[in-house]
Amino acid sequence: MSNCLFCRIIKRDIPASVVYEDDEVLAFNDINPQAPTHVLVVPKRHISTLNELDGGDDHLVGGLVRRAAAIAAERGIAAGGFRTVFNTNRDAGQTVFHIHLHLLGGRGMAWPPG
Ligand code: 5GP
Ligand code: ZN
Repeated sequence: MSNCLFCRIIKRDIPASVVYEDDEVLAFNDINPQAPTHVLVVPKRHISTLNELDGGDDHLVGGLVRRAAAIAAERGIAAGGFRTVFNTNRDAGQTVFHIHLHLLGGRGMAWPPG
């Protein structure tokens, strides 16, 4: 997906502040952070939205969630708490159509979200 922003970050065509990488996952700091910790955890394989997932992706998605929790632990925000969000399509405000798990933390957060 040469026109996908996150695929281009994964290929290192576009720079990002990478915080974790393995064969399946890249995590990097959000360019417009909404909290002291705001990391995007993305699969290296292009998947546009959660609506495109199937059962074969369960391991991959579980890996994103576990990686977000591990990064939260590294940053010392796991016990205090953090928020993880997948935005899907227009009503949720998705702007980049390559799935990404937002990890937000380091401050108190309101519920319900806006
Ligand atoms: P969405 O609204 O799709 O759930 O989240 C997309 C996120 O990607 C936003 O929080 C936005 O700040 C972030 N973002 C957009 N462009 C870039 C970029 O070029 N680099 C990085 N690191 N983050 C980006
Ligand atoms: Zn992509």
